[in-house]
Amino acid sequence: MAELRVGLYPGTFDPITYGHLDIIRRGLKLVDRLVIGVATNPSKSPLFSLEERVNMVRGETRELAQRHAVDIAVKPFDELLMSFAEKIGARVILRGLRAVSDFEYEFQMAGMNAHLNPEVETVFLMADAKYQPIASKLVKEIAAYGGRIDSFIPPRVANAVRAQIASERGFPGGPVKM
Ligand code: ADP
Repeated sequence: MAELRVGLYPGTFDPITYGHLDIIRRGLKLVDRLVIGVATNPSKSPLFSLEERVNMVRGETRELAQRHAVDIAVKPFDELLMSFAEKIGARVILRGLRAVSDFEYEFQMAGMNAHLNPEVETVFLMADAKYQPIASKLVKEIAAYGGRIDSFIPPRVANAVRAQIASERGFPGGPVKM
């Protein structure tokens, strides 16, 4: 029997957006099993805890997995990306590319990861044009100023963002972690 092709899509997913979901939908065409790796990433001071981010990604991908009959696993990780990829048997790392600004960082990371493990290939996918400008960071900024975020993230995630921002803000107009 042919070896199962396992792909890893790593990210912070703070929170998961329609951009991420579009990349996941495309990635599913390339692999038999997709592991979505949710990074702790304390340096980004996430708005949501690791557990909340994992649960949101699970909630938003459950239906996709059923529809595509592909195995999707959502796992938290707090280690070197390549060590995690080896542990789960991933041969491909999926990353999304938005604008030119993403390129330099992604290019360096893919290059260094290739040195760490030449067996694992990094594959870049582009989201549909309507999802390309979406970034979790901007969604949080828009929400913090009371703007509409419903066209960028799924309804349950949008409610969670609004609730989290309201709870972090002890008083109206108070500071919010980005
Ligand atoms: P990280 O902190 O690892 O960059 P993110 O959750 O911000 O985590 O992003 C995870 C991956 O998804 C990255 O490769 C990022 O470029 C990609 N991505 C995020 N939003 C989009 C989008 N709108 N279109 C295409 N790729 C995206």
